[in-house]
Amino acid sequence: MSRIKRVLYAIVLIIFTALVVSYVAVSAEPTLAQSFAITMSVILFAFFMLCLIIALDIVNDREKTRELDKATARDPLTGLGNDSSMERGISAFLTKNRPSRYSLVCLDIAEFHRFNVMFGYAAGDYLLKIIADVLRADYRCAVRSFGDVFLFLDETSSVMIEGLKYKLYDAIESDLGRQYVQVISFKFGVCPLGDFCKPYRLIRDNVMFALKYAKKNPKQNAFAFYNSELQKESVLQKDIEMNMLHALSKEEFQLYIQPKCNLLTGECGGGEALVRWSSDQLGFVTPNKFIPLFEKNGFIVEIDFFILTSVFNMIETHIARGMRLLPISVNQSKITISFPNYLERLRNLAKKYHVPLSLISIEITESAMEANYETVVSAIYEIREMGFRIDMDDFGSGYSSLNTLREIPVDTLKIDREFLNEADTSERSKAIIKNIINLSKDLGISVVCEGVETGVQYDFLRSISCDYAQGYYYARPMTTNDYENRFVIDSEVEIID
Ligand code: C2E
Ligand code: MG
Ligand code: MG
Repeated sequence: MSRIKRVLYAIVLIIFTALVVSYVAVSAEPTLAQSFAITMSVILFAFFMLCLIIALDIVNDREKTRELDKATARDPLTGLGNDSSMERGISAFLTKNRPSRYSLVCLDIAEFHRFNVMFGYAAGDYLLKIIADVLRADYRCAVRSFGDVFLFLDETSSVMIEGLKYKLYDAIESDLGRQYVQVISFKFGVCPLGDFCKPYRLIRDNVMFALKYAKKNPKQNAFAFYNSELQKESVLQKDIEMNMLHALSKEEFQLYIQPKCNLLTGECGGGEALVRWSSDQLGFVTPNKFIPLFEKNGFIVEIDFFILTSVFNMIETHIARGMRLLPISVNQSKITISFPNYLERLRNLAKKYHVPLSLISIEITESAMEANYETVVSAIYEIREMGFRIDMDDFGSGYSSLNTLREIPVDTLKIDREFLNEADTSERSKAIIKNIINLSKDLGISVVCEGVETGVQYDFLRSISCDYAQGYYYARPMTTNDYENRFVIDSEVEIID
């Protein structure tokens, strides 16, 4: 029983005893005034009891919440606190210390998922405990925020990450073994606290933003500070999210087409549909700025359907005007194809237009297969059964390219731009491209090489019998008007696939 409860019970007992004693003292022959006093006392007592019950209830609730807080604030695996304990800890710590000297640091184990798969989940748990012990021993307010992400406070200095890195590796080597040190690396986000007048949630968002940035850096133990540049980018992201809905209704998104060249005939062999955003508020925004964000907030589904619908419209116009019919490939994000009613929406769209579906390829990036494998693969089978073609985009950039080829019915492979970049200097990359093309021919799959920027690259691809080249050397992405004028209007009607 808590102290407050004990005091309250004691008060009740005293009042009750006083009432009984005064009643016994006057009960023989009470005067009118005494009867009135006793009646009033009983009423007051009843009122007091009511207040007491309410007070006890409140105390009880508070106790339960505190107990629940305590239970949920501790991570059962590592014994560290969580985000809400960090929020309390950081405020308490900064009442006695200058915020401008400190940073909130976020640590994430690089490719932790792969570590779990390679060494087992028990080893993964053990690794988390080792990290927790290092952080608890040497850093302020260390907590496990979620999964493999830890937060703690440290003095802002350029060597802080170096020091921590060695402590972690020492602990891993002595507890797990030397061989583990070679496969484990970390990513760090750092957000200097400055004057700490921002709410904790905002500082946490900023440090996570910095971590996201560090994760893009392939270097081992990369870190990123949340500085004015990152701040600008995070503001841009917020602006993008604020403007995206209006942008669709204000028709700020536009369909562009990048033609691809048939290397056998030297003619245009169709093109790829690419979205462009020219915003009233933000100016021209490049796809690499808004696509990842739309994939996160789900808006990509609307964009993908907008582009697909625009492509249907364009081809239907070409048919109506007796123009040349060239196939167009349309990017569909992994988020879009895994969306619950995606196939139904696609089927309805296809029904609405009189367009042969073999003229439209659905481009899916190889990395779409990595998460949500079953859903994506079964969607691909259905899309193909409807009559669309399937292009595997950015082929060679993922982990399991050959598996993808074995398990998925693909019509076209689009070789990732990076291979061609490296082929300029690396004989190995040249050999890889050559053999991907040979393999594809054996499997009856056509090949597009992306990012062709020079005549040398173009000639090399022709010499190894690559089917199509897409890149700035042949044509940049352009408006549908330009595409039609340059590649579609003047030619005779024929279907090329
Ligand atoms: P992607 O599907 O691999 O598209 C090819 C990208 O390479 C395009 O960038 C294109 O402009 C660029 N590119 C083409 N030729 C060259 C070249 O010779 N050199 C260089 N350096 N780049 C070249 P873009 O339009 O900025 O799009 C980037 C990515 O954004 C696309 O890569 C695709 O993944 C995504 N994306 C674009 N439009 C859409 C869309 O409507 N829906 C979805 N889900 N994703 C889209
Ligand atoms: Mg593409
Ligand atoms: Mg691509």
